[in-house]
Amino acid sequence: VERCDAVVVGGGPAGSSCAHDLVRAGLNVIVLDRARFPRDKTCAGWITPAVVEALALPLDEYRRGRVCEAFRGFRTRVAGGREVVTRFDAPVSYGIVRAEFDDYLLRRSGARLQLGTELASLRRSGDRWMVNERIETPIVVGAGGHFCPVARWLGARPADETAIAAQEFEGRLSPEQAERCRVAADEPYLELCRDLRGYGWCVRKGDHLNIGLGRQDRHDLHGFVGRFFEGLVASGRVPPSLPVRWKGHAYLLRDASVRHAVGDGLLLVGDAAGLASAFSGEGIRPAVESGRLAAATIIAARERYDERALRPYADGLADRYPRSTATVGSSLPRGLVVPIVDRLLGTSWFTRRILLDRWFLSRAA
Ligand SMILES: Cc1cc2nc3c(=O)[nH]c(=O)nc-3n(C[C@H](O)[C@H](O)[C@H](O)COP(=O)(O)OP(=O)(O)OC[C@H]3O[C@@H](n4cnc5c(N)ncnc54)[C@H](O)[C@@H]3O)c2cc1C
Repeated sequence: VERCDAVVVGGGPAGSSCAHDLVRAGLNVIVLDRARFPRDKTCAGWITPAVVEALALPLDEYRRGRVCEAFRGFRTRVAGGREVVTRFDAPVSYGIVRAEFDDYLLRRSGARLQLGTELASLRRSGDRWMVNERIETPIVVGAGGHFCPVARWLGARPADETAIAAQEFEGRLSPEQAERCRVAADEPYLELCRDLRGYGWCVRKGDHLNIGLGRQDRHDLHGFVGRFFEGLVASGRVPPSLPVRWKGHAYLLRDASVRHAVGDGLLLVGDAAGLASAFSGEGIRPAVESGRLAAATIIAARERYDERALRPYADGLADRYPRSTATVGSSLPRGLVVPIVDRLLGTSWFTRRILLDRWFLSRAA
């Protein structure tokens, strides 16, 4: 039997951020991931400056040999509506490729990595956990994403939850395709569904193109994705010859999540806790922030890891990510809200101050 101070299940941004801070505090940490890194993750790969800051990401170093596209503007519209172009003086976000980003963070964490290793079993033995019947540890951090097995242990039932359903495609553009792609690398295109229950994106990062659409309900998701893509081709934004193969995934918005984030010797971080932002669906920032908060809680608990000792973590999440009903269109009758917001989204002021600054970039308006 191997012994360690903490096992982190999942090496995405939530798990690696947590592991990084635990290792810095002198803990002996094992990260298990069923995938071998670098691995793909279905994601547009859009990170806000808050992520760069929370990770103390050295952008110049990171950029060497990796994709890191600075976004200085957006083209936005409601499907069928007027397009609005918004420019900013400085970069307001970055486009990264998740396979590169997650691998970089995981290697940087300094944890002992057991990749290609699934969490197959978790057994309580006194005040310790037996992981896969071969690792003994006092604390397990569940960072396995939406379907995290540790979250299931704490009672999560993904099949009964109202998750965001999304489909996307990411691929490299050939030089000819790049020439014919009218989406500028520093200016992603966002198109809100007419019922405001989701949006599509087309993001260019280096020679990568990422196209996807996510919705608050999965009904006819494929139809929405197909119509969005046809529109992109018809308007000449993307070349018709792309070998598009859609990949699907689900994740929980904070407002819809009722997951318990702590138990005796257990903590959930990132998508496993269901923390993505209500309107934009930004999940990397809360993944990193919650990973770091979990690490701080573990360090402060000084090896007393019963549920009460870990409670400050759940309280910290509740403070940092209060549940709200104030997402667009959710607190007023939809028949009233949709036409008003539809009109407002055709204006430069609303698009800059509310849609982008407040909802997508989480900057003060
Ligand atoms: C289509 C789509 C687009 C998105 N676009 C964006 C975006 O542009 N910007 C943004 O901020 N957020 C975006 N998100 C959300 C974002 O991808 C997630 O919130 C983020 O990846 C959460 O990180 P995490 O570390 O919690 O989980 P993940 O990144 O999902 O990592 C979980 C890890 O756990 C491992 N794992 C799972 N089960 C097991 C097991 N049983 N044993 C061992 N390991 C296991 C997996 O292999 C994986 O490596 C998007 C999501 C989707 C679906």
